[in-house]
Amino acid sequence: MPRDPVASDALAAIDHARDGLYALSLQIHRNPELAYQERKSCALVGSFLADRGFKVTSSYAGIETSFRADAGSVAPTVAILCEYDALPDIGHACGHNLMAMMGAAAGIGVRAVIDRLQGRVAVIGTPAEEGEGGKIALLEAGGFDDVDAAMMVHAGSRTLAYRRSLASVRVDVEFHGKAVHAASQPDQGINALDGLILTFVGLNALRQQLRPDARVMGVISNGGSAANIIPEFAAGKFSLRALDRTYRDEVIERFSQVARGAASATGAAVNVAVRRNSSYDNMVPNRLLADRYGEHLRGLGVDVAQESPDERMGSTDMGNVMQALPGIHPYIKIAPEGTPGHSIAFRDAAATVEAHAAALLAAKAMALVTIDLLRDPALLRAVKDEFEQQRRQGLVRGRAQAAAKT
Ligand SMILES: [Zn+2]
Ligand SMILES: [Zn+2]
Repeated sequence: MPRDPVASDALAAIDHARDGLYALSLQIHRNPELAYQERKSCALVGSFLADRGFKVTSSYAGIETSFRADAGSVAPTVAILCEYDALPDIGHACGHNLMAMMGAAAGIGVRAVIDRLQGRVAVIGTPAEEGEGGKIALLEAGGFDDVDAAMMVHAGSRTLAYRRSLASVRVDVEFHGKAVHAASQPDQGINALDGLILTFVGLNALRQQLRPDARVMGVISNGGSAANIIPEFAAGKFSLRALDRTYRDEVIERFSQVARGAASATGAAVNVAVRRNSSYDNMVPNRLLADRYGEHLRGLGVDVAQESPDERMGSTDMGNVMQALPGIHPYIKIAPEGTPGHSIAFRDAAATVEAHAAALLAAKAMALVTIDLLRDPALLRAVKDEFEQQRRQGLVRGRAQAAAKT
């Protein structure tokens, strides 16, 4: 496909930086850091971009492991997001080392031609995607206030330009009872563990009464200490999800009723804590941006799959960003189809040369979309019009409401 000189120069800049980008990603992969502890990874990506001419702000928006790297000085602003947190025990099994690299690579491509564009690119380091909602914290701190559109690409086992996600939330449940000797005075105790077990039983019954897109599951984090003591304390961690945030909120309410019912049945006291900082909204990708991204990726020789109606989905705090402003979060295949995310196999795939080559193509497509947005005001206007329409339909909140929620 013949390309214009601006696009060619941007792609050449990414190719030129390739060895450094791969090394950056592998260094992050080798040193996995958990949510909000990504000090080394954040500093690595920030200094990588500072060395290549970006104006870098550390601890962006007051968040220690966030950064922002700018090129260009006038509005509008297109943000390209990096993630770099890992999972407990299994390291970079979500491939966020590649997300860090893709964001940096796309930024480098756009910066190379920024003088020929009307606007600014901001590479933003967004920490703590795995459960702690770094993007929610950034949104609330005003980190996206001047951003007109945002994008990132996630590693996956299929290549998709458009894919939704489930709205999710984590809920901690604690039961408090009364400890007594389990053999000699069981009639004088209150069994906190029974409250928790009845919550699981009730949840299993509730599941049948929920929409098929709902996902409800949990683990016991504290189930007592000895078989001959009636447990006075029991705790569980639950994850509740649905295809849209409104239904997710209904599922939270029904789950809370189940837990309260279990408390009433056992006599134990219950505390249901909804963790708002991990309340991930569903993604509503901007169709126009997703289509443009898909066109560019195909132009680079990559096959792009079509989202199926019963697509399997997880959740991401990018959903909260998309509730506030136009955005996309496509997927690039870096592992054999069917490789589960959050697995050892996916972690190992995220360190291969093939994965890096695929991710670099996705980064190039992001750079080309950003260039389009920064030199074609009509495209950016159309993207914003689509978002405004989604807001009127109640599919997204829009900026003011997004900031005022929780
Ligand atoms: Zn993940
Ligand atoms: Zn992830």
